[in-house]
Amino acid sequence: MPRRCTVCDHPERHSVDQALVTGAPYRSVAKRFGLSESAVYRHKTEHLPTHLLKAREVEEAARADDLLDQVRHLQTHALDILERAEKAGDLRTALAAISQARGNLELLGKLAGELDERPVVNLNVSTEWLELRAVIVGALEHHPAAHGAVLRALESVGDG
Ligand SMILES: [Zn+2]
Repeated sequence: MPRRCTVCDHPERHSVDQALVTGAPYRSVAKRFGLSESAVYRHKTEHLPTHLLKAREVEEAARADDLLDQVRHLQTHALDILERAEKAGDLRTALAAISQARGNLELLGKLAGELDERPVVNLNVSTEWLELRAVIVGALEHHPAAHGAVLRALESVGDG
C-alpha cells in the first residue's frame, strides 16, 4: 500500500500547489505549510502535474460550455427576429435572420464536434445538441423557407 502524500492530504493543498507553480523553493514551501521538503518535492514531481491537468480540463470544459450558451442565446434571438420579420412581411430582415441562424447552427455543430473529442463531456453535449436541433427544426415548421434553409445547413454540417 503506497504511503499517503502529506501534501495531497494537506487542508491547504491548493495554496501549496499555487506556491509550487509560481516556482517557490521547496524549502520555503515546506516551512510555510509545515511539511517535509521531501514530501513537497515528491508531490511536485508526481502529483502536481495531474492536478494541473485536471484543473485545465475543467476550465476548458467550462469555457466551451459558456461558448455554447452564448451561441444558443444568439440563436434564440435570430429565431425571434425571424418570426417577427415574417409576421411584419419584412422579407429582407427575415432573410438576414435566416442567414444568421444558419451561421449559428454551423457554429454549434462545429462546437459540438470539437467537444465530442472530449470523452467526459461527449454525451452531454451530443444530447444537448440533438435536443437543440429538434427544438430549432420544430420551431421552424411553420416557416417553410427558414425550415428548408436550416435543414440544408444542418445537412451540410453533418457532412463536414
Ligand atoms: Zn501529493
